[in-house]
Amino acid sequence: MSRIPRIVILGAGYGGVVTAIRLQKHLNYNEADVTLVNKHEYHYITTHLHMPAAGTDKPENARIDISKLIDEFKIDFVKSTVAQIRPQDKKVILEDSTLSYDYLVIALGGEPETFGIPGLKEHALSIRSLNSVRYIREHIEFQFAKFKQEPQRKDYLTFVVGGAGFTGIEFLGELADRLPKLCREFDVDPALVQIINVEAAPSALPGFDQELVDYATTALKAKGVVFRLATAIKECTEDGVILANGEIIKAGTVVWTGGVRGNRLLEDAGFETMRGRAVVDSYLRTKEYDHVYVLGDCSIVLNEQGKPYPPTAQISIQQAEVCAHNLIATIRNSSLKEFSFHNRGTVASLGKGDAVGIVGTHKIKGYKAAMMKKAIDVRYLYIIGGIPLVIRKGL
Ligand code: FAD
Ligand code: NAD
Repeated sequence: MSRIPRIVILGAGYGGVVTAIRLQKHLNYNEADVTLVNKHEYHYITTHLHMPAAGTDKPENARIDISKLIDEFKIDFVKSTVAQIRPQDKKVILEDSTLSYDYLVIALGGEPETFGIPGLKEHALSIRSLNSVRYIREHIEFQFAKFKQEPQRKDYLTFVVGGAGFTGIEFLGELADRLPKLCREFDVDPALVQIINVEAAPSALPGFDQELVDYATTALKAKGVVFRLATAIKECTEDGVILANGEIIKAGTVVWTGGVRGNRLLEDAGFETMRGRAVVDSYLRTKEYDHVYVLGDCSIVLNEQGKPYPPTAQISIQQAEVCAHNLIATIRNSSLKEFSFHNRGTVASLGKGDAVGIVGTHKIKGYKAAMMKKAIDVRYLYIIGGIPLVIRKGL
């Protein structure tokens, strides 16, 4: 390769942005051309999205302009949507142009997993981007406005959340905080509002520490959430959901938080995938191409028991650090680093001032856990934007 190598990064979420920032910091000028592609000119803090979705925070607070994160003298930013990845030709087809690469980093995130359940794609809402949460927030408010026009339609005030994983639980906490405020704003009797969580597993937060699960469900029940556990959603319709036992819940709002799969572009490109997530080697490269790295929700990393780690921002950031190291090492002909996940813990919010979590070996709950969640958020802002971003966004 006589010219300088060209690195293309697809997606400016956790994996993509952290890779770009690391490369910008550690690569010397004219060691590589780096291009970052993203469908929006902003990065969004996905781990905050349950708040603007419910309307307890502004969407702008989860948004950071990419121009504020990268040095455009070092990284070319292309705002475009990836339409196709052609690894056999070392090309990426964008909606309006084509890019060639020597090294590719795919960090395009995930998509809601609907398991083929009829009607979910068409009728349920999903928390997946800034635009999707703006829509959910407006939709919720609109149900109150519609109810005032048609007071016999109590189903407008029924809110179903499908799935009680971490996304479902965090959204329920915010929704339960928000709806009493909407009741006051629209002069609606709070007794008419129902928040119903439908979870297929026998417990909320399946697999999480039982004491913390009990704390979380008790806190949410106290705010009015009704849990329907060991109950799967079988179908979603215009009017609500149909459960596996045939029961129908009429609801003006169904938010689906039943899981994520990888971006479909990876399957279409011919990579080996499991639920749309590419299987990567210990250096985070695809099995098929040693110059193609895959990170975050569209990659799959197995633990010592051979089970996939859950897709999280935490693992995406750690992968990005290793990916950037390996790209630089390849260019400089030095040694690659193997990826191993260091689980620093999990903290889930339950609405304002309340949360549950495990940090290291410590269980935390209540206000202390909520503060820990804030500290994790601040740490991330520091990683991508240093003190200036922490001051602008985090405090
Ligand atoms: P993403 O962050 O989703 O980024 C993908 C990027 O690719 C986006 O910028 C998107 O616009 C762009 N993109 C997608 N398709 C295209 C295309 N075709 N063309 C161009 N650009 C495209 N994890 C934690 O560790 N801790 C938490 O507290 C936590 N809280 C969460 C709360 C919620 C409500 C949700 C939904 C998730 C949460 N997660 C949390 C999970 C975490 O957000 C994801 O695992 C993480 O965002 C994955 O990062 P990523 O880089 O793979 O993808
Ligand atoms: P998930 O896969 O973790 O949970 C989905 C839930 O939906 C499961 O409990 C599942 O049993 C349930 N479900 C599936 N099909 C169903 C059906 N037909 N009817 C009813 N329930 C059904 O998905 P998620 O909660 O969106 O989380 C995605 C990833 O993001 C996970 O890795 C999670 O750890 C991570 N995340 C982390 C945090 C945090 O750390 N605070 C917050 C949100 C998300």
